Amino acid sequence: MTSDADVALRVRALESLLLEKGLVEAPAIDEIIDLFENRLGPQNGAKVIARAWTDPEFKARLLANATDAIVEMGYEAVQGEDMVVVENTPRIHNLVVCTLCSCFPWATLGLPPVWYKSAPYRARAASDPRGVLAEFGTAIADDAEVRVWDSNAELRYMVLPERPAGSEGMSEEDLLALVTRDSMIGVSHAVTP
Ligand code: FE
Repeated sequence: MTSDADVALRVRALESLLLEKGLVEAPAIDEIIDLFENRLGPQNGAKVIARAWTDPEFKARLLANATDAIVEMGYEAVQGEDMVVVENTPRIHNLVVCTLCSCFPWATLGLPPVWYKSAPYRARAASDPRGVLAEFGTAIADDAEVRVWDSNAELRYMVLPERPAGSEGMSEEDLLALVTRDSMIGVSHAVTP
């Protein structure tokens, strides 16, 4: 196993080498670190979802054209990809995978978790989505339909989880804490307050 310290050392070595060879400049690296640490991540996705839960007109725009609705919130696609948001309901549960590699909506969810990139998840999300959901401890009604969406370089999917019972009186700000990264991939439900 590679420890975090090993990884940090290797990253520093690579950074030094790239700078030395003139392949990158220090401000460019700082810019990328700032992007991933502060500007990309599931905190953005949570804001999109909380708004969709509280603003029916925004939700309609989000489901009709997620790319535009997400730009409207101020989050830009990093790699020029288009976004599609699929809505969970009591009858339909959506699950997102990239069967080929690890395509993921960076602007709204950040970098993909390790398990998302793993071969077992990529294979089984497609062939046995209910088994995968069971392993995540996510209960789905027997008569609900499970839909699997295969993200790729041009098109990235994100799930609009069901707004949990008990959250009816909560403000958009308070709802943010209920929206987890995993719920926007579809392997979990949103947190019940
Ligand atoms: Fe991919």
